[in-house]
Amino acid sequence: MIETLIEIVRTFAAHWFFGFQEELIRYLVAAAGVTAIFWLARRYIAARRIQQRVATMADRRREIFQSIRTVAIFPFVGLLTVAAVGLGLGQVDFGPPDPLILIIQVVVIILAHDTYFYWMHRMLHLRAMFRRAHAAHHNSRTPTSWAAYSFAPIESVTEALFGPIILIAMSWIVPIYPIAGLFFAAHQMLRNVLGHSGHELAWSGFTRSRWTGWLTTTTHHDLHHSEGRYNFGIYFTWWDRMMGTEHPRYHEKFEAVVSRGKTSTDPVTA
Ligand SMILES: [Zn+2]
Ligand SMILES: [Zn+2]
Repeated sequence: MIETLIEIVRTFAAHWFFGFQEELIRYLVAAAGVTAIFWLARRYIAARRIQQRVATMADRRREIFQSIRTVAIFPFVGLLTVAAVGLGLGQVDFGPPDPLILIIQVVVIILAHDTYFYWMHRMLHLRAMFRRAHAAHHNSRTPTSWAAYSFAPIESVTEALFGPIILIAMSWIVPIYPIAGLFFAAHQMLRNVLGHSGHELAWSGFTRSRWTGWLTTTTHHDLHHSEGRYNFGIYFTWWDRMMGTEHPRYHEKFEAVVSRGKTSTDPVTA
């Protein structure tokens, strides 16, 4: 009996540690990578800084602390995913992936996460939830890439619940390839750290073009941090446009940042 209990605890601890390690590496590589690249390119991208206010070291310390706490919470929710598979509620295909099905799975997971994130985010902004669940993320008025996972514990859980939900939902149709989850996680992490990076790298006309306007920009999420009441989406602008929550001056603010880039590089090249 005692041995079985020890074995269960040991298995859970191993799963937790594996998840913690994987997510921590993903977070550190992405956040530190973007920070380092932006630092090396600082001369060229300085004009593309969205806000005049500069994040302090205390801001960064808080963002890193809260993000690592999130990374420690994620694998507890990940255990639900493991349990769902164990109970047969979630199906995973460990065989060699069919490339077409793999691409479809990645796209479907990204689209589903965009929808999940928008509505979960709207819920966190409700008066009853905001202080306890989401104010911690909004302490970053001028976010940096380190803010990617800077959540209160409640938000860490609501963010992570997407994992078991999508696994169970998709298993009704097709078993998920583990590598589809990895591609999704890499895309999520990259868009997340770039969205908080405080610098706009997209070009003039990006937000209005029919080819690119459906993608969110760094300015899109930065405005959510500086003003709060608009731009709840993560990857795509569809939900904000459909629900009337896009910042009314989004295009204008975006163009102001990218044109500032043009005028301030002129004297350098002249
Ligand atoms: Zn928010
Ligand atoms: Zn944010």
